[in-house]
Amino acid sequence: MSILVYIESSEGAIKKTGHEGTSYAKALAEKMNCKVTALTINVSDTDSLKEYGADAVLQVTNADLKHFEASVYSNIIAQAAKEVSASVVVISSSADSKYMAPLLAIELNAGYASNVTDLPSSLSPFRVKRTVFTNKAFCDTTLQTDVKLLGLSNNSFGVHKNVGEAITTSFEPVLKPSSVQVDSVEKVVGKATIADADIVVSGGRGLKGPENWGLIEELADVLGAATACSKPVSDLGWRPHSEHVGQTGKPVATNLYIAIGISGAIQHLAGINASKVKVVINNDPEAPFFKAADYGIVGDAFEVIPKLIEKLKAFKAQSA
Ligand SMILES: Cc1cc2nc3c(=O)[nH]c(=O)nc-3n(C[C@H](O)[C@H](O)[C@H](O)COP(=O)(O)OP(=O)(O)OC[C@H]3O[C@@H](n4cnc5c(N)ncnc54)[C@H](O)[C@@H]3O)c2cc1C
Repeated sequence: MSILVYIESSEGAIKKTGHEGTSYAKALAEKMNCKVTALTINVSDTDSLKEYGADAVLQVTNADLKHFEASVYSNIIAQAAKEVSASVVVISSSADSKYMAPLLAIELNAGYASNVTDLPSSLSPFRVKRTVFTNKAFCDTTLQTDVKLLGLSNNSFGVHKNVGEAITTSFEPVLKPSSVQVDSVEKVVGKATIADADIVVSGGRGLKGPENWGLIEELADVLGAATACSKPVSDLGWRPHSEHVGQTGKPVATNLYIAIGISGAIQHLAGINASKVKVVINNDPEAPFFKAADYGIVGDAFEVIPKLIEKLKAFKAQSA
């Protein structure tokens, strides 16, 4: 009996979700009295996994695995799970993993729970809490299969330092032929991504036009945040579609989400509900977003943002 955690990475670097998944797997392993094995694909430096509690690392290095492909990756994870006789497999509930999880569940004959937010409340039966209805409700789910597949909701468990042995061994799975060939991927470089950022500053149609986005970017820079936007903003071509958050865009589960000039339509809220603290800046006190907000500023974005930037810069200079 053991736990396998699949570590997501980007450009060879472990994503924050990989450390969160390892922290979760370690805490679960303590409950189950077993070991944690982390699986990496094309990650050269696996040392940090030890700090979050991995007891062993299976390291796959293969130039043919340059791009994520759900059926190939799920097959590799299944091979690793069988190799270590995993009874629980932990993945993140990222866009890629959600797409891959059903394939992996079939390969392992496993019950699958997505958007898991906490450690199991009971091991026998194996019962986990997860969010449903775009984070509007919680649901207790019992997994009845021998192997359990858990998709951990981002930022739900947190990253916790721990002690593991993390002995890294190379793992060479048999690669199944891919049904899809990814020729190229264009990525935004040098900026915090929405998925990995602790803070997201997001702008809506209230910003009036793309020429005003400098304000959003400056605020994001001061906070070390990623930038995002509402759907109409990307539909209008003011911002790239990669920044669109909501029901039809990217889900955001950050520690702090700052929404500026966004009305708070249900489809937008659906994507950001999992964020911990929501701050809203809107000049309409009746904007629906205020009902979902933890903190709100009723005011004109063009007056509030520069003042906020000024204060934050002064605060940073003071504490430097
Ligand atoms: C099937 C479907 C899926 C959808 N999916 C998504 C989705 O994934 N994500 C998404 O975002 N939307 C989605 N939408 C669209 C959604 O319904 C809203 O239309 C959209 O979120 C509104 O965007 P907005 O708040 O930027 O613009 P608006 O609704 O135009 O709101 C602009 C806000 O800015 C405020 N404002 C104006 N001027 C200022 C100022 N100077 N200072 C401060 N505040 C100001 C206004 O008071 C207003 O509240 C979807 C819709 C459908 C039908």
